[in-house]
Amino acid sequence: MQPQAIDFHPPAEEAPAFLLPVTTSLFADRAERFVALAEGHSLAEWLRFLGHVSQAQHAALQSLAELPLPDAATLAQARTHGMPPLDPGKRPAAWRDVLLQIAGDLRLQAPASARPVLDGLLVAADDCLENMADRLLQGEPQADELASLAVVAAALQVVYTRLASQLGAAHLQTLDAHNVCPCCGSPAVASVVRLGATINNLRYLHCSLCNSEWNVPRAVCTSCNSDKALALQEIADSKGAVRAETCDACKSYLKIVYQEKDPRVDPIADDLATLALDLLVDEAGYLRAGPNLLLIGANAA
Ligand SMILES: [Zn+2]
Ligand SMILES: [Zn+2]
Repeated sequence: MQPQAIDFHPPAEEAPAFLLPVTTSLFADRAERFVALAEGHSLAEWLRFLGHVSQAQHAALQSLAELPLPDAATLAQARTHGMPPLDPGKRPAAWRDVLLQIAGDLRLQAPASARPVLDGLLVAADDCLENMADRLLQGEPQADELASLAVVAAALQVVYTRLASQLGAAHLQTLDAHNVCPCCGSPAVASVVRLGATINNLRYLHCSLCNSEWNVPRAVCTSCNSDKALALQEIADSKGAVRAETCDACKSYLKIVYQEKDPRVDPIADDLATLALDLLVDEAGYLRAGPNLLLIGANAA
C-alpha cells in the first residue's frame, strides 16, 4: 500500500470572541441605515429623527477626547470576579458635555414641537441629568421625561462606545450570562448573524449601550441557554433580515438581524424599524429580553 499524503487543512483562523465598536463609522452607518429604513415606512418621520440623532452621535464621538479608563487594580478585580470592566453606574462626567453637544446639534434641525425638550436638556442641572441617566439604565423612566431619554441614551452610548474601543478585547472575558455585555454589563439589544471571513454565519450579541459584540452560539436562547423550545418569528416587511427568536422555556424573545439578507442591517436601527414584530410576539406572550435605549418604552415592557 502506497503511503498517501495526508490531506491537511490547517484550522481556519479562529473567530474573535469579541468585536469592538469601530468608532470612525459606527454611528454614521447607523444614521444612513435609519434614513434608508424611513423610506416608505409608516414611522418615517421618527426614523429620520433617529437618523439625525445617530449623525449627532457620530459628530460628538469624532470630537470626543480619550476618556480615563478604570485603573489596573479595578481591571484586575473585574477579571478575577468574572465581571465586566466598565460600570455604567460610574460614568465619566464628559457624558454631560456630549449630551449638550448632541442636544445643540439636534436643536438646529428639530421641528418647533421638539425644541422645548432640547432646551430643557441644555439648561438642566447636573444632578437632574445624572438621575435621568440612572433611571434610563435601570429601565425605570418617569412618564414626563420619555422625550428627553432618547437624547440621554444617545450621549451615554457615545461615551461608552469610546470607552469600549479604548479598553480593547484583551480586557474582556466571556461571562456566564450570555445576554450581558462582557464590556459594560448592559443587556444586549439584539443579535447579528454576520458575514465575513472568520465570522461568517456566526452570531454576535450587540450591547444596547457600548456597541460591543460578543459571540454566542446560534439556536440557543440568549436568556436561559435552553435549546429546546426556540422558534423564529418574522413580519413580511423585513424580508427575512430581522427575526424574533422566541423561547418557550423562559417566555422571552430577542431579535436577530441577518447580514446575509442585507449587509447594511443594524441591530439598533432595524430593531426600531420593526416594532410591528415586537407587537406580534408581545401579544403571543413573550417578554423582550433587552432594551433599545433609544426607545426606552421597549425596556419597560
Ligand atoms: Zn456594553
Ligand atoms: Zn429562554
